[in-house]
Amino acid sequence: MAKVIIIEDDVEIRRLVAEGLADKGYDVDSAASAMEGLEMLVSVRPEVVVLDLGLPDLDGGELLRMVRSISDVPVIVATARDDEDSVVAMLDVGADDYVVKPFSVAQLEARIRAVLRRVGREGHRAPIEVGGLRIDTAAREATLDGEPLDLTPKEFDLLRLLAERAGEVVSKREILAEVWREPYGGSERTVDVHLSWLRKKLGETAQRPRYLHTVHGVGVKLVAPR
Ligand code: CA
Repeated sequence: MAKVIIIEDDVEIRRLVAEGLADKGYDVDSAASAMEGLEMLVSVRPEVVVLDLGLPDLDGGELLRMVRSISDVPVIVATARDDEDSVVAMLDVGADDYVVKPFSVAQLEARIRAVLRRVGREGHRAPIEVGGLRIDTAAREATLDGEPLDLTPKEFDLLRLLAERAGEVVSKREILAEVWREPYGGSERTVDVHLSWLRKKLGETAQRPRYLHTVHGVGVKLVAPR
């Protein structure tokens, strides 16, 4: 079942929603503050986040921006602010959907099912193919032109992240957040080193790239060679 985290400071709402979703078979964790929620997002890697906008330590909108800088996990905003402007503002900064308080667990669950359908959660299990690269995320195996690649776990995670977002420049900061789970720490040098090892295993160099292209000052992107 899908992993959900609930970031909500109201004890009663948090308990009701967590229990209600757990009853429906979801794997639920909850956080009472924005900072706790952010840490949980990185450690738990949920498939959906339910985010209360009125949090004690940080405005939910600020938190949403921080979440979006490190993750594209679907976020459903739970808001007491039912005026249109604030809802539009939340959707603008990357919320996928919203529920207005008071809401029922049934309503929230319907929204969760809808966002999971939209992101095609099942689709992520299919192997990712880019050019001659094939990455089986379920089996954690990768091949290049049919030959198995002998990758370390971090190299595999790095390759998978770049392949999932093939054609898109991924920043080293995002890589640190996704692969090393260090959204606000860690050294970009770590990423550089692993990239160079990965390049070697793919039989290419930074000077003569095929799949892995550095975009200076921005990040790196994986593309199928022409
Ligand atoms: Ca609140």
